[in-house]
Amino acid sequence: MMTHKFVEFIPAKPEEGVLYISIEYKTATHLCACGCGERVITPISPVDWNMTFNGETVSLSPSIGNWRFACKSHYFIRNDKVEWAGSWGKDEINACQSAEIKNERAYMHKKTKDSLDNNNPKVEKKRNIADWFLGFFNNK
Ligand SMILES: [Zn+2]
Repeated sequence: MMTHKFVEFIPAKPEEGVLYISIEYKTATHLCACGCGERVITPISPVDWNMTFNGETVSLSPSIGNWRFACKSHYFIRNDKVEWAGSWGKDEINACQSAEIKNERAYMHKKTKDSLDNNNPKVEKKRNIADWFLGFFNNK
């Protein structure tokens, strides 16, 4: 069982069995459900974890895969409950890590593209170069 707490700042010493959620910082944190004491940080974003709050309980998806910790625990947090999943095989870890990197890249690419589209520096730049060229030829 997990209890969730909506907080602004994640406490320096999180309690075991509590899922801290900071909407402000788009991050959730809890201590590894196996009891090893490792702190699990789950950023909430389209390519990281999605947090669902149904008014009473919180779920995180996808699963929490702590392959970086010695315990290598793997579980879901669904409706404030820890549901243990199978342990990680090496292939699964590799597949998951490369999928993560891929997602991250796609997301960053989209983000960069979005901000470019918003500011339109590309168009601006092109026009400047065009002006420069025109100026160059006009001067001749
Ligand atoms: Zn653990």
